[in-house]
Amino acid sequence: MSATASTVHAAPTRHDRCDRCNAAARVRALLPTGGELLFCAHHARAHAARLRDIGAALDPGP
Ligand SMILES: [Zn+2]
Repeated sequence: MSATASTVHAAPTRHDRCDRCNAAARVRALLPTGGELLFCAHHARAHAARLRDIGAALDPGP
């Protein structure tokens, strides 16, 4: 595993924080607009239906 790996498939890391609270992000939501949101497990679940509704792609981390 290279430390200089590309960020083509950037899963949330322990450094990322949920956009709704300050917990560690577990899921990255890629919005159709090109933006992205980070959610902890709790908020990912809470917003999953809404995110799919707007066409966001959920990218769970490892
Ligand atoms: Zn959260």
